[in-house]
Amino acid sequence: MNVRELIDGHKAVFSFEFFPPKTEADTKALFNVIGELKTLQPDYVSVTHSATGAAPLKTAALARIIKENYGMEPIAHFTCIAHTRPEVRDIAKLLKEHGIRNVLALRGDRRPDAPPPPPNPYNYAAELVRDLNAEGGFCIGVAGYPEKHPEAPSPEADIARLREKVDAGASFIITQLFFNNADYFSFVDKCRAAGIAVPIVPGIMPVTSHKQLNRFSEMCGCVIPKHLAEDLERIKDMPEAVVEYGIDFAYRQCKELLDKGAPGLHFYTLNRSVSTMAVLRRLKNEGYGK
Ligand SMILES: Cc1cc2nc3c(=O)[nH]c(=O)nc-3n(C[C@H](O)[C@H](O)[C@H](O)COP(=O)(O)OP(=O)(O)OC[C@H]3O[C@@H](n4cnc5c(N)ncnc54)[C@H](O)[C@@H]3O)c2cc1C
Repeated sequence: MNVRELIDGHKAVFSFEFFPPKTEADTKALFNVIGELKTLQPDYVSVTHSATGAAPLKTAALARIIKENYGMEPIAHFTCIAHTRPEVRDIAKLLKEHGIRNVLALRGDRRPDAPPPPPNPYNYAAELVRDLNAEGGFCIGVAGYPEKHPEAPSPEADIARLREKVDAGASFIITQLFFNNADYFSFVDKCRAAGIAVPIVPGIMPVTSHKQLNRFSEMCGCVIPKHLAEDLERIKDMPEAVVEYGIDFAYRQCKELLDKGAPGLHFYTLNRSVSTMAVLRRLKNEGYGK
């Protein structure tokens, strides 16, 4: 099914993000997690794609398994920074052969130790959106940044670039994770004022450890609110208390987002189920969704 139609057809959609596992043990663990999370009937799930360009097959294969064996609608993430145009055409063909019709078109980041870029590389996600849209047959989503993408000179400049992705053919946006809902609501208002009319689904990561939070904040540039940092500092040596705190924080964050009109929630699961299940169960018990 087309993800945009799923978003439009529901009061609120719930989705999960997974990444392709590296080892046999991780693969087994992931399939257990997917089986558990399936019981919560997500509207769709997404599978990440390495920005090195090394493993499009892994993304396509996992997305296909999720669709065929678990009956859930997949979105394949599709990064372009390491690919040439012919490679992008091949990956698009591969995805179609795997029955994948929803993609999240992304630029990706070039690592300092990455091999040299290919000739005529893609520079920005909008170029990929344009090519995939011309290719046809995909419902295309893109990334948005409530706290601004770290490289963008200003929030306004970043939103103008986001508008280019939507104008090129993207029909939904999934956001980077954030912990301050005011940032999401202000971002949505600014997007609407800039003429971006497509649904903007907030990305949520329940905190499961102090270390993990700091790592993600550094990686994606999201701000950790003072009260969250202080609360976690107090309990950082009690791992179970941190998980419980993270569940409660995410639940309250999600509830406010939905109450104030977010079209759904996209959970960054990190291939684990406990916290996402706890948050979503509480929301579903209160009648959120569908
Ligand atoms: C929901 C979500 C899922 C993700 N999944 C993955 C994944 O599976 N694999 C992965 O490797 N990474 C993933 N990422 C991370 C993403 O690849 C990085 O954040 C990357 O730095 C930017 O990707 P983008 O698609 O937003 O890039 P773009 O939209 O190209 O934007 C990147 C930067 O360039 C600027 N810009 C855009 N166009 C222009 C232009 N013409 N001139 C000048 N500046 C411009 C933008 O303002 C922004 O600062 C994900 C991020 C999100 C939010």
